[in-house]
Amino acid sequence: MNLNLTAQQIFSWTLQLSAQSDYQALTHSFLNILAEIPWIDNVAAYEIYTHEKRKPGETSTARELLIRQFPLDFTRNDEEDHNNLLAEIDHTIDLNLSAQDESGLYAWAIYSVRGSGGPERAIHLEGAFDRDMLDLLGNLRGVYRNLVILHDTKERDMLTKLPNRQSLDARLLQVCEHYSDYHVMDIAEEKSSWIAILDIDHFKRVNDTFGHLYGDEVLLIFSQLMGKCFRYNDFLFRFGGEEFVVILNLAGQETAIEAFNRFRQAIADYNFPTVGRVTVSIGVTRVDGVSMPTTQLDHADKALYYAKDNGRNRVVLYEDISVVAQDNDLSEIELF
Ligand code: GH3
Ligand code: MG
Ligand code: MG
Repeated sequence: MNLNLTAQQIFSWTLQLSAQSDYQALTHSFLNILAEIPWIDNVAAYEIYTHEKRKPGETSTARELLIRQFPLDFTRNDEEDHNNLLAEIDHTIDLNLSAQDESGLYAWAIYSVRGSGGPERAIHLEGAFDRDMLDLLGNLRGVYRNLVILHDTKERDMLTKLPNRQSLDARLLQVCEHYSDYHVMDIAEEKSSWIAILDIDHFKRVNDTFGHLYGDEVLLIFSQLMGKCFRYNDFLFRFGGEEFVVILNLAGQETAIEAFNRFRQAIADYNFPTVGRVTVSIGVTRVDGVSMPTTQLDHADKALYYAKDNGRNRVVLYEDISVVAQDNDLSEIELF
């Protein structure tokens, strides 16, 4: 089939894609472009996270795939986005195709988008495609991929590959806006989000004793343990230095504190190469519908300082610190 695309059309697409300011906007724009192409019936984007699992004493590793449909809806509590096709395809190749029908057309195509600092992405298309169409889609995927790589460089931390401070600001605003519709919430309900700052204890000593390279390795392993411990609908960030942030979604207070304590314990139990034992202090606050995102981060930070002042290796909830104390500067007054 001759696709008869004008230069105008192609420029219009590339201009639209390159005008987007971040990865989220870029991917929305790419999906919109694809959805408007008449011979495409269905389009969806996915992010694929892989965890290598090696059992003690075994040399082979099992790959565990975590598939998240874009955009992640953090208000939904499904275990995972089940796309059986995505779990079964060959992830080492750029294009997976259905079998051809009797007229030589393909009913689905999955394009991989790999090679950036972030997770592998996949674009799943349904329709009836011939080779010319697949060539066009392959080129569009190429433009999208190059832009994804640029955005990942800007939005992710290069050591841990986690979204960075800039991405946190954007995401936290999104989460806060969601809750601004719910001024009165029952905190016992499993429907809140929680923001936590995680700060490695005495990390300067790790660097001073073992050197920066081993320090970096601790940061990397720490981020990988975060990926394993938290759920697929939680948001993880590197805040800067040895500080990380988790936005834990769809949890009541008890569940949230349990989750953070589980992670704290997982770190305390982990035997880091050469460095050995490391602990983490965690300050948590509930995302409410009224405070500014910066205020909420500040609350988590105050709880973190309280944890640091009270022995480290612990989780402190801002809401648990005395109500009177909350109105004062915690750094200047004696608590309890
Ligand atoms: P505390 O328990 O009070 O948090 O003590 P701390 O030593 O962890 O805190 P402090 O803020 O004094 O020191 C943080 C250290 O983290 C200082 C810096 O050398 C180290 N650091 C920050 N970013 C990096 C990094 O990217 N790599 C390495 N290796 N170290 C880093
Ligand atoms: Mg710190
Ligand atoms: Mg620290």
